[in-house]
Amino acid sequence: MLPVDVGGLDRGPVDVSRTIASDDPLFDDLDFELTGPVRLSGRLLSASLGRFYWQGSIATDVDATCRRCLSSTPRQIDAQVHLVFTEDQDTDDPSVYVVPARADVLDLSEAIREELILALEAYVLCREDCKGLCPSCGTDLNTNSCDCRPPSDLRWAALEKSKTKVNE
Ligand SMILES: [Zn+2]
Ligand SMILES: [Zn+2]
Repeated sequence: MLPVDVGGLDRGPVDVSRTIASDDPLFDDLDFELTGPVRLSGRLLSASLGRFYWQGSIATDVDATCRRCLSSTPRQIDAQVHLVFTEDQDTDDPSVYVVPARADVLDLSEAIREELILALEAYVLCREDCKGLCPSCGTDLNTNSCDCRPPSDLRWAALEKSKTKVNE
């Protein structure tokens, strides 16, 4: 839970700045590991028609996995975030978060979790030119080499074989 008291919102923006521990259940089962607390800094504003805006930043350090070589890859997240909450239960706008109507407390936790996931790039690489793992034997080609042929060679080999068959 990341409750924010919205009772005073009529009188002006509410400052919502928190530090959430990396082991908070909110961050269970992410694709990456948090190596530091999640720092939120922002303000919640009330807008018309049961809408709320939260504008601020989400910052933390994570340990992600390189998509090519699977090595642990540290990343810093510092994302500017603009969240829209609505009390309209029937909205079909996927970019807004639906909250209960006339609630005194707004729970930001689900939105923060989602924004954190979006803030990390989808295709993490340990370095731009990571060579990845050999698809046949699994050798890390950044540090080692192997005798496996690249897939294109294998295709050629298959072609050669079928050719010789035809000739027989
Ligand atoms: Zn890599
Ligand atoms: Zn190999």
